[in-house]
Amino acid sequence: MSEQDIELEARLAEQDEFEPPGSFVEQANVSDPSIYDEFAEDWPGCWEHAAALLDWSTAYEQVLDDSNPPFYEWFTGGELNASANCLDRHLDERGDETAIEWIGELGETRTYTYRDLHREVNEFAAALREQGVEADDVVTLYMPMVPELPIAMLACARLGAPHSVVFAGFSANALATRMESADSSVLVTCDGYYRRGEALEHKPKADEGVAGVGHDVTGVVVDRLGDEYDHPMRETDHDYDALVADHAESEVEPVARDAEDMLFLMYTSGTTGEPKGVKHTTGGYLSWVAWTSHAVLDVKPEDTYWCSADIGWITGHSYIVYGPLSSGTTTVMYEGTPDYPDKDRLWEIVDEYDVTQLYTAPTAIRSFMKWGEEYPARHDLSSLRLLGTVGEPINPRAWKWYYRHIGSESCPVVDTWWQTETGGMMVTTLPGVGNMKPGSAGPPLPGVDADIVDAAGETVAAGQAGYLTIQKPWPGMLRTLYRNDERFIEEYWAEYSDTDSEDPDDWVYFPEDGAKIDDDGYLTVLGRVDDVINVSGHRLGTMEIESAIVGVEGVAEAAVVGGDHEVKGEAVYAYVITEDGYAGDDGMRDGIIAGVEDGIGPIARPEAVVFTPELPKTRSGKIMRRLLEDIANGEELGNTNTLRNPEIVEEIQQHVGGS
Ligand code: ATP
Ligand code: MG
Repeated sequence: MSEQDIELEARLAEQDEFEPPGSFVEQANVSDPSIYDEFAEDWPGCWEHAAALLDWSTAYEQVLDDSNPPFYEWFTGGELNASANCLDRHLDERGDETAIEWIGELGETRTYTYRDLHREVNEFAAALREQGVEADDVVTLYMPMVPELPIAMLACARLGAPHSVVFAGFSANALATRMESADSSVLVTCDGYYRRGEALEHKPKADEGVAGVGHDVTGVVVDRLGDEYDHPMRETDHDYDALVADHAESEVEPVARDAEDMLFLMYTSGTTGEPKGVKHTTGGYLSWVAWTSHAVLDVKPEDTYWCSADIGWITGHSYIVYGPLSSGTTTVMYEGTPDYPDKDRLWEIVDEYDVTQLYTAPTAIRSFMKWGEEYPARHDLSSLRLLGTVGEPINPRAWKWYYRHIGSESCPVVDTWWQTETGGMMVTTLPGVGNMKPGSAGPPLPGVDADIVDAAGETVAAGQAGYLTIQKPWPGMLRTLYRNDERFIEEYWAEYSDTDSEDPDDWVYFPEDGAKIDDDGYLTVLGRVDDVINVSGHRLGTMEIESAIVGVEGVAEAAVVGGDHEVKGEAVYAYVITEDGYAGDDGMRDGIIAGVEDGIGPIARPEAVVFTPELPKTRSGKIMRRLLEDIANGEELGNTNTLRNPEIVEEIQQHVGGS
């Protein structure tokens, strides 16, 4: 490092608040701070600003019907079609502009203009309709990141048929459970896909899943691998290309949907308990993602916007497909992994396509840090205007790395807190308005009423850890858990609501995350409430301890869990990955312990620090703490099926056994 670099690092390390760059504010979609007061004073009328971003075929009569909490209804009486909002209405002005820029892992690309996408969606919608798909039929999509996935989603939306996307990495069993639960009898899937240059078969897994479904299933199969793989076809399977060819140039009139009609079902990843069928609606959800794309991601039609998530997760639904396409912008879709063929793949894409916004996850950023800044340094990233993260808290060191090495200190970073259930972003800074504080997501969005409470539901003082609650409904909220209103109330409302009351003020949404708030109203999300370790009666958030550990030089990533302890009840176990070039030795261990003692206090001092090359992660990249807990306690391990890297578990067990 040069002397200048060292100085800059030192300055960044000290700085805990960052102003949005003036050049960004000047052009931002939202830059007037009075929006917070305006929305608060005009609630729920403020949400007309969101609805106004859409085209309605029938105007709504009422913004919010809260007569039957927590079954809120938004934009009642209104009608619209999501595919018409994402496609048809852009044709006149933007028909020849790029809607989807698809980049395959092997380097091939496909560019869809809005006109192309409109045509393909119409053709596939016609094909689905011929297969008997009607409004309200749930169609399951079990596909990797191929263009046919968003095409199929929009084709379903055009017909008013809710889709249920099942992440391609999920097992046959997961597919079967979801199809069964949604009573879905049409499946769109594909023969296989590429991962790190290798062709992977997918169809046999889909077939195994279908075999576990108790009713007949019509299949549509996209041929991704061509001659490379002669995939099996069931009797009721159809080839995607053949179906579409039969409907060349067909047009399907978009079906007018009631605002409250279901747009899609999304089963949550199930890191905790049985998968839940989260129901999202056409009017409320689409307004929410259009609004947050506009206000937070600052999306403009002329942008080339990129969210690097998988469409199999809610982030991909909201911010690869529905948010950007309803905004009429160009959305980038990348099929592959960030380190293939090399660790600069993302930066190569940003450079080549002049990407203007990048939205990714902290776990990815920590990998980039581990790989080193030389990879982004190889490319010109000056097209970037805004950076975002979602999925878990981002520790200040990773935030600053992202800000400096990707954003060159000239892009705001939005740390967005939200969930599958919320439909879209809820807590984050408005990049054209508020200062950023690394480690804190920011204030609730205008019109979002969040509060941190104690176990009794009383607001806690600034700086105190408590439970995050949302006190008022919002248009993007889930409407229920599919066919299970009771579980919907139990999971999200019962904790802090008077469930006998008909007064909406008595109903409070509980996302099951812990958080604290500072004097400026900025929230720091501390993680799930079940991720709390109770050491000698002190409740410690795992996220806070992890953040302290990841702040130690040479640490790339850390996971902390509670292990049984005779004296303390629970003790802190830390699993740590070091950055390339650092060894997990005694010196590092001492540094970590000192880091935790300084950052939080001696009470949080780890009982054991275990160095490991990887952490067990779910397919969405979240750490499986439950498994690490079992390892710490020397217990029989639960199901490791949903892991992306099951082989690491045994290795960690050996490290623990040996330490
Ligand atoms: P499941 O609900 O199926 O167990 P999940 O909660 O991991 O899985 P998601 O809905 O994708 O599934 O994730 C939402 C959760 O991710 C939030 O409740 C929160 O715990 C965490 N999260 C998301 N964004 C942030 C963020 N910016 N800061 C802190 N935590 C975040
Ligand atoms: Mg959750």
